[in-house]
Amino acid sequence: MDLEIFSPVHPWQHPVFAAQGLNVFIKRDDLIHPLISGNKWRKLKYVLQHARAQRKNHLVTFGGAYSNHLLATAAAAARFGFKATGIVRGEAVSNDTLFLCRLHGMNLIFVDRDSYRNKLKLFQEHFWHDEQAYFIDEGGASPLAIQGCSELVAELPQTYHHLFCACGTGTTAAGIITGLQQHHLPTHMHAVPVLKNGDFMRQEINAYLTTPADYTLHTDSHFGGYAKTTPELLQFIQQFTASTGILIEPIYTGKMLYALLQLAQQQYFAAGSQILAIHSGGIWGLLGMKDKFTLNS
Ligand SMILES: *Cc1c(COP(=O)(O)O)cnc(C)c1O
Repeated sequence: MDLEIFSPVHPWQHPVFAAQGLNVFIKRDDLIHPLISGNKWRKLKYVLQHARAQRKNHLVTFGGAYSNHLLATAAAAARFGFKATGIVRGEAVSNDTLFLCRLHGMNLIFVDRDSYRNKLKLFQEHFWHDEQAYFIDEGGASPLAIQGCSELVAELPQTYHHLFCACGTGTTAAGIITGLQQHHLPTHMHAVPVLKNGDFMRQEINAYLTTPADYTLHTDSHFGGYAKTTPELLQFIQQFTASTGILIEPIYTGKMLYALLQLAQQQYFAAGSQILAIHSGGIWGLLGMKDKFTLNS
C-alpha cells in the first residue's frame, strides 16, 4: 500500500529574489496525487498501514466542510480498499469538497460544533458496534503522521539554508524538523501558521519533537485568521499562478509563499541563500474560494 512519490523541486523566479541573489525553490508535493495531496498523503501513509495491520477496514475521521484531510482520506480509502466515514463539523451543507468525498464513497455524518469537540466520544457513540472502525484524528495528526512527513527530507536534492512550510496543526512542520534532525542537516525551518494567534503552534510542534529544535514561527502571516483573505493575498495568488503555472490556494500555501516573498523584500535572507518552500497541495480549496477573486477579463 503505497503511492509513488512524484514531488520534483522547481525554481521560483521573482525579480525580488534575483535582485538579492536568492535561489528559491518549490517542492511540488501538490503533484503527489490530485486529491490525496501533498502533506495529506505523507500524514496518512503509516496511519493506513497501521489500520491494515490491525485488520481495520473502516477509516473514521473528522474535519470541517472544506477539509483537505477529509477529501484525502476519502480518496485514499477508495484507492486502498477501505470503507470511510467523515464526521463533519457544523450543519449539513454541500460543496465541491464534500461532493468529491461522497463520490469516493465516503459516508458523511454532520454534527453540531459542541459535539464535535469530543471526537473520541463521537467515534464511540457511532461505532462502538463496528470492530472494523479505525479512528483517525482531525487533520490526520498523530506520531505516525510525523514519521511520514519526516521522509520528505530524504528526497531533497541539495542542502538548503531555509525551508518553509504552512502550518494548520503543525504536524507537517514537526515531521520535517524531525527529518532534518535525523539527517543532521543545518537547514533552518520556518513554519507559517495560517491561523490567528499562532504562537500556540510552538507547543504543538514541540510536543512532537524528541529533540528540541531551533526554528522560526512567522505568526504575522495569517491575513486575519483561518481561511480569511485580503485583496493583497488574492492578487499575489493570481500573479503567482499567472507567472509560474503553479496553482496555489489562499488558505495555506498562498499565505506561506507570500510570507517568504515579504521576508525577501525586507532583506531577511543573506545573499546567496538557498531557500525551499513546500507546496503542500490543497488546491481544491481554491475552487471553494473562487468568488473572492476579482480577475481581469
Ligand atoms: C492540511 C494542510 C496543511 C497543514 O498541515 P498541518 O500538518 O496540519 O500543519 C498545509 N497545507 C495544506 C495545503 C493543507 O491541506
